[in-house]
Amino acid sequence: MRPPESKNQRHAMVAFATPSCVAGHKDRNGRMTTFAATVLTLFPELFPGPLGASLVGRGLVDGRWTLEARDIRDSATDRHRTVDDTPSGGGAGMVLRADVLAAAIDAASPAGDARPRLLMSPRGRPMTQAMARELAAGPGVLIVAGRFEGVDERVIEARGLREVSIGDYVLSGGDIAAMAILDAVARLLPGVLGNAASIESESFSDGLLEYPHYTRPQMFEGRAIPEVLTSGDHGRIAAWRRAEAERLTVERRPDLLTRRRDAGN
Ligand code: SAM
Repeated sequence: MRPPESKNQRHAMVAFATPSCVAGHKDRNGRMTTFAATVLTLFPELFPGPLGASLVGRGLVDGRWTLEARDIRDSATDRHRTVDDTPSGGGAGMVLRADVLAAAIDAASPAGDARPRLLMSPRGRPMTQAMARELAAGPGVLIVAGRFEGVDERVIEARGLREVSIGDYVLSGGDIAAMAILDAVARLLPGVLGNAASIESESFSDGLLEYPHYTRPQMFEGRAIPEVLTSGDHGRIAAWRRAEAERLTVERRPDLLTRRRDAGN
């Protein structure tokens, strides 16, 4: 992994990967692949940011996945490296130009690139754990991190961008959203997390929120660990955890239960 070295280099493509020990994983056809992520951004120096830390960052260093952050401005054609213009029809703010963004996409993802193309957008489909699993099973992803008021609609259509939102609120740019999506996906790649069982039992994996966790000390400010968890009775522990997961889901996210029922689980 190679972090950007100086502000002067921010226009260069920044690749974060060490191919020296690429482990790769098998795709559906049994071929060895490494998940390849590309982010198109106006702020490549923000990457890898948090994606360079902990197990996901370790996965990058170990070649379990690769990440390149490409500056959209590199595809501008004027000497000011202009990427935006005023909105047609008037109104506040600026809009990312279709021609500049299309050129950036074409340079990063030539014909034949099978990776899905996502556009970070508050009006997109909400990101889910199921989408993270689907992306992790593929060859990689190209993510456009928007800025300003948004991007010219025509490039969304012309380059087949899938709009994805990370929640019902508005960020100032798509970089943090891209990082959130890549973190959710990268931790599912083979070899990135040490303990695959922890993925199977966590929130959303079976349509429920996760049960509460406890660890030593046995007593904390007058609160004891629930007796069942120290009983050694694995059947009772599993039943307690299941009941707690259901209780929390009913309380906090009844919509998940409806979705689960509709999916026939
Ligand atoms: N005018 C836009 C709207 O009302 O939908 C908001 C634009 S926002 C200031 C700038 C960029 O941040 C967006 O183009 C998008 O890439 C990103 N962004 C903001 N909120 C987001 C969210 N909830 N999920 C994903 N991306 C988001």
